[in-house]
Amino acid sequence: MKTAKENLLRSSINKENFSEAKKEWQVTSRIFDNFGDDADFSETAPCCELCEHENLRWQFEIINTKNSLLLLVGSTCIKQFDIPIINEDLSTLTGEERDRTLQKRIDDQKKEKNHNEILEKLRKLWKKDKQNREKIEFIAKHWKKENKFDPIDAYFIRSRLINLEIPLGNCRMEVNLRSLKNKLQIVSMPDKQIDLLTEILTSAQKKALTNLKEKYAYKN
Ligand SMILES: [Zn+2]
Repeated sequence: MKTAKENLLRSSINKENFSEAKKEWQVTSRIFDNFGDDADFSETAPCCELCEHENLRWQFEIINTKNSLLLLVGSTCIKQFDIPIINEDLSTLTGEERDRTLQKRIDDQKKEKNHNEILEKLRKLWKKDKQNREKIEFIAKHWKKENKFDPIDAYFIRSRLINLEIPLGNCRMEVNLRSLKNKLQIVSMPDKQIDLLTEILTSAQKKALTNLKEKYAYKN
């Protein structure tokens, strides 16, 4: 806390009064993921430039509205010092509303990253799996629209990726189990295919699948 206060005062116009200096700052819309693919691990561990807490995954940019200095900080310091977000329409977010927005920015960034990774896997697969190019392209188009795979499409892509040794890594293939069509589709798949899919289902989906199987037990 002491370090953070000192660092904030050092970068502010008001160097004496902390509660006044604090008011000079606001959160910009920029956020950085330091554990992302493009993160450079050769540099020093990313830290919060206020409290100097190290190995920060997410850094938010804050700006001093008086001297335009920028700092990269963690969400903890933003919350602790109640630094507001000023939107483009000049509305101000503070407190819980601000905290929710910070979290949403992280979630959006994660989603975008996952989307790009899946896209890259599909491109790799398309290149390698020459016989199935048309099908892969068709599935990819549907996925781009829904951001999720239908169960049989997910099974097909997953098994082709395994076959051609393209690892999924940390990215997640999302399966759409919402529509009745897809529910019926997954329960009518052979158990072996379902097993392969189970790895990529969320825990809520796994539960839902168990229920579905009971509901449609007539299948075997
Ligand atoms: Zn901090």
